[in-house]
Amino acid sequence: MVDLPERTPLLSLHDVSKRFVKPADAIDRIARVFGAKKEDEIVHAVDRVSLDIHRGEVVGLVGESGCGKSTLGRMAVGLHTLSSGTRTWQGEDIDKLPAAQKRTRQLAMQMIFQDPYASLNPRMRVLDIVGEAPVAHRMVAASQQKEFVEELLQRVGLDAALLRRFPHQFSGGQRARIGIARALAVRPELLVCDEAVAALDVSIQAQVLNLFIRLRDELNLTYLFISHDLGVVRHVSDRVVIMYLGRIVESASTEELFAQPNHPYTIGLLASAPTLDVKKIDFHAVSGEMPSPLHPPSGCHFHPRCPHAMPRCRVEQPLLKEIAPRHFSACHLNDD
Ligand code: SF4
Repeated sequence: MVDLPERTPLLSLHDVSKRFVKPADAIDRIARVFGAKKEDEIVHAVDRVSLDIHRGEVVGLVGESGCGKSTLGRMAVGLHTLSSGTRTWQGEDIDKLPAAQKRTRQLAMQMIFQDPYASLNPRMRVLDIVGEAPVAHRMVAASQQKEFVEELLQRVGLDAALLRRFPHQFSGGQRARIGIARALAVRPELLVCDEAVAALDVSIQAQVLNLFIRLRDELNLTYLFISHDLGVVRHVSDRVVIMYLGRIVESASTEELFAQPNHPYTIGLLASAPTLDVKKIDFHAVSGEMPSPLHPPSGCHFHPRCPHAMPRCRVEQPLLKEIAPRHFSACHLNDD
């Protein structure tokens, strides 16, 4: 675990939001043809989130499907534009940089996706999948590409002799390693891993998680590790951030979050998962369904499911407050 020093974060998301316009359905389109006034529906996928990630840190980002965690990860690396807010890299506003500098910053942030098979071009050989970008960006000479890819494959635990094979000739775990090698090929400093081991068998998951940890130490990498699985997040993270319906509701060091959760949502998650280190832990045990981000509840988004909800919770949004050193929670119960 890294100590969290008071210094400029490597990546900082400040007050960022992402709103998507929901495409009109057939009925709305017909109604518009006949002159009916139909407002566009807005999905509030991420709602005024601030998150600092320091160099060398592993931040686990957890939440139910649809809570906005993947959207936030894509915003972090620039795959989604921000509807509002800012994104800084070592204090510099990335989105205000000249194009060439911005490209360099983008390369320093790579994303690893859940389904390595879907994200690998089935018609390309591993040599090109891994070696194309570093040559295109002139990080590696074309004459050095093969040697460079061989070295990377070995680093992620693959046999370098397999570089002329296609993705379908590998197992799921091997494909995950190819995806990691491809991300590493442009020498990133930050990896955003979006459910990066979710599609793998549990035994393979452990191997790939250990690879992530080893690579962090060897290459001084920083991770935003997005997962719905508390067991996975606990295994790899220094700090855990819990998201609910587009907002961060709690954030603390991994040790503290699991030992002393504060937010009723986090408490519900952990109470439902007494054997955290055994296997996958998901969110079904928190009673009730997560509301639609098209029509989020007023006040505290969690109030329809919260066993402690008070009248105030229905009208007033709780702000994220520091309740102990580096432990933040957004709940009105902390005001008493
Ligand atoms: Fe529950 Fe109210 Fe706290 Fe929200 S603010 S988590 S509804 S007690």
